[in-house]
Amino acid sequence: MTLEEFAEDGKRLVRDEAGDVAEVKYGLPAKVQYCTRCVISNQRPSSVVEFLNKAGQPKPTIAFDEEGVCSACRYADIKHREIDWEKRERELLELCEKFRSRNGAYDCIIPGSGGKDSCFTAHVLKFKYGMNPLTVTWAPHKYTEVGWRNFQSWIHSGLDNALVTPNGHVHRLLTRLAFERLLHPFQPFIIGQRMVGPRYATLYNVPLVFYGENQAEYGNNIAENFKPQMDMSFFKAAYDPDAYMLGGVRVDELIRDFGVDRRDLNPYLPVDAQRIEAVGVEVHYLGYYLKWDPQEVYYYAAEHCGFETNVERTEGSYSKYSSIDDKIDPLHYFTTLVKFGIGRATYDAAQEIRNGKITREEGVALVRRFDAEFPSKFFKEILEYMEIGEERFWECIEQFRSPHLWRNDNGVWRLRYPVE
Ligand SMILES: [Zn+2]
Repeated sequence: MTLEEFAEDGKRLVRDEAGDVAEVKYGLPAKVQYCTRCVISNQRPSSVVEFLNKAGQPKPTIAFDEEGVCSACRYADIKHREIDWEKRERELLELCEKFRSRNGAYDCIIPGSGGKDSCFTAHVLKFKYGMNPLTVTWAPHKYTEVGWRNFQSWIHSGLDNALVTPNGHVHRLLTRLAFERLLHPFQPFIIGQRMVGPRYATLYNVPLVFYGENQAEYGNNIAENFKPQMDMSFFKAAYDPDAYMLGGVRVDELIRDFGVDRRDLNPYLPVDAQRIEAVGVEVHYLGYYLKWDPQEVYYYAAEHCGFETNVERTEGSYSKYSSIDDKIDPLHYFTTLVKFGIGRATYDAAQEIRNGKITREEGVALVRRFDAEFPSKFFKEILEYMEIGEERFWECIEQFRSPHLWRNDNGVWRLRYPVE
């Protein structure tokens, strides 16, 4: 496809072969390209520092090489063929040896909700590597029934847990603002989940924090996969908490215009840098040390922690075992579909292709069948949670839809360039 890109009235525009002109939002690449190996497109944004996330801010996206292969597939090659996993496990043993407690105190903090990844991480560290973890849960917005059962089974598999449930009033407000201003209703969860590990490390004076998989595997800067640790400079940097953004609104505006009490924002803000330094907090990814295969991780969690899959497939996908604990998850993936043309089946299929579970052809068929399915099951409940009416909901969706990705055919939105 030949496209012509140009600017007008401060907007990036693109004209396609048929002469149709559309705006390109979020700094995304004007021309849609799909990875030749998996089903991800070049529109996939990399993780951002959520505190700086403002409406309309350009987003960095996944890198593609000259052969049209995405960086997540390139990393999968390295993961399957080049990394010496026995050597990595020896590094894990050394790390555990260095931090293991001998007096019964907790020696590592493992944040997680009781999904398959945190089940695996906590169980294997305690029962295979002899650590004494405290698992810490930043509660989902709204637990699903299966999510709550899995959370309970996880604890009953032999683990201590601290369940941190944020102030419901503030969490709902931040979720609504994140939806209306960023079309990113999952943001308050992401922020809290990232903060809760280092926060509990400083509270309990336990320097070692383990998260499971490094999200960089899915297409952030590939170099991040070669580091076992999360970059802590973010936590250590001097910052002005008033200038931080939550739900796309500055903290000082939340206090002034939305009547939020400053104290209630504490769980969303970075941990005091001096405390981080004093305790010597290190945040590691278990996925750096152990070869992470989501399906194998699921089998382990089912066998050892009584982890259950959903009874039916997840809306917007064909899978039953990923991200099933929060009723807001399906809406989260629907918003990525609207903004980036990438829904949940695309994320699931891309990962399974890279791990050799399905072929690209099967992946394409699954994406075409399920990706655009609207998440209706918890829709009303989530609208009530966010205190948003149905009309306002659709107004926001249409405001954030990327015109260079979508075309309206007689009232039905279709992707201009679906995967093939
Ligand atoms: Zn790929």
